[in-house]
Amino acid sequence: MDTSRFPNWTRQEDEQLRLMAANGRSKQDVAQELGRTINAVAARAVATRVRFRSRRHPNDQKPVFRRRCLRCRNLFDVESRFRFVCDLCHALDEWRSADLG
Ligand SMILES: [Zn+2]
Repeated sequence: MDTSRFPNWTRQEDEQLRLMAANGRSKQDVAQELGRTINAVAARAVATRVRFRSRRHPNDQKPVFRRRCLRCRNLFDVESRFRFVCDLCHALDEWRSADLG
């Protein structure tokens, strides 16, 4: 594959760049699809004012669970699926057990 030379972007390529960006695809996806480098895609995106969504990798997003605290019955958000009491009650529990111990 010859990647040292890049022909001018065609209208179709520009359109594809625009569509893929709009669909939340990454620069890497577009680069692969069009057989160009990511840098070339990035430069073209700037030149044609195409915006890529800054997208976090799905694995980076921790799921957040909304639970009702088993002690105070307040709703709270927690990232761990193994927590069943809110931060306040959790802290109280730790304080109590430390006090008893
Ligand atoms: Zn609580």
